[in-house]
Amino acid sequence: MTDFSVINKSSSQSFNSQKRLIKALLAGQTIPCETCKKPLSASMPPKNDQHILGHIRCPKGCTDIELEVE
Ligand SMILES: [Zn+2]
Repeated sequence: MTDFSVINKSSSQSFNSQKRLIKALLAGQTIPCETCKKPLSASMPPKNDQHILGHIRCPKGCTDIELEVE
């Protein structure tokens, strides 16, 4: 699996806890948003942008984590 760095726009979570969260999500687990408790979902990147792997977001937008190729 490609390693990735994490850019977090809206949360105070630590980098390591974000990485754990993302790995759990990508492994198929259901992870609730820490703010609204709705399940987070991963979205795939646009095909023309090779620098971004995707986003982790909750339905309300209080969690929005961008994954970048390292
Ligand atoms: Zn939320």
